[in-house]
Amino acid sequence: MADRIRSAAEALFRSQSAIALTGAGLSTESGVPDFRGPSGIWTRDPEAEQKAYRSYERFKKNPKEYWVERLTGPSLLGDLAGVSPNPGHLALAELEAVGILKWVITQNIDNLHQRAGSRRVIDYHGNAFKLRCASCMARYEPKDFDLPEMLQKGTLPPTCRTCGGIIKSDIVHFNESIPSDVSTLSLEAAVASDVMLICGTSAVVYPFANLPRIAKRLRRESSLPLTVIEINAEPTPLTEQGISDYLIQGKTGEVLPRLVAEIKKGSR
Ligand SMILES: [Zn+2]
Repeated sequence: MADRIRSAAEALFRSQSAIALTGAGLSTESGVPDFRGPSGIWTRDPEAEQKAYRSYERFKKNPKEYWVERLTGPSLLGDLAGVSPNPGHLALAELEAVGILKWVITQNIDNLHQRAGSRRVIDYHGNAFKLRCASCMARYEPKDFDLPEMLQKGTLPPTCRTCGGIIKSDIVHFNESIPSDVSTLSLEAAVASDVMLICGTSAVVYPFANLPRIAKRLRRESSLPLTVIEINAEPTPLTEQGISDYLIQGKTGEVLPRLVAEIKKGSR
């Protein structure tokens, strides 16, 4: 493993536009439950999964009811505000701070990258701490609206101050498209990258899973270099399909800090 960490450190050190793709594995080390693991949210509560599948339809049909449900029902992920970034998040924030990492594109909705200090974060599946206008994609914070009062007075759903459109959670629900600003920016960042770290995700959920695959193909066709380095607990389809150049097998909270330490050693 030490050899691979050294190779990854060298690749990152030489890179012009390194990015990281991250997923649930990174945040489970902070105690954020995953969805489909052995003790995942939906494994334990299949009804919650059914409900999650219906969220977007509910929003489109009856946004008021969608909002009442959100404000009165149990929070799906429990108290996300109570969890903290772990050494994996902090290491990625440090890689950005030293000018190596240009973007983090995450499937996680937990805001932990931002809380760790990463500034250039693309929340591919949205952010649980934000709201989004369904029409113009303007983002808001929950505190921008007096939601408890709107619930009490029956004036839900909140509407967009720019275009009057209906506001929903920023979280991308099942059957909802990835917001076009997010999908465009992610694809641009992936195709422009020369080193891609894939951390804590098997990248099997589409369209997110297309990012490494498209980047690999397009850059190869243009004879541009792209090193895809996977940091995962187990081999994934990316390993098996040769999308990743190599796998550093282990916990992101352990491997990423070692990677940062190796880079610092090399830069001295
Ligand atoms: Zn709007």
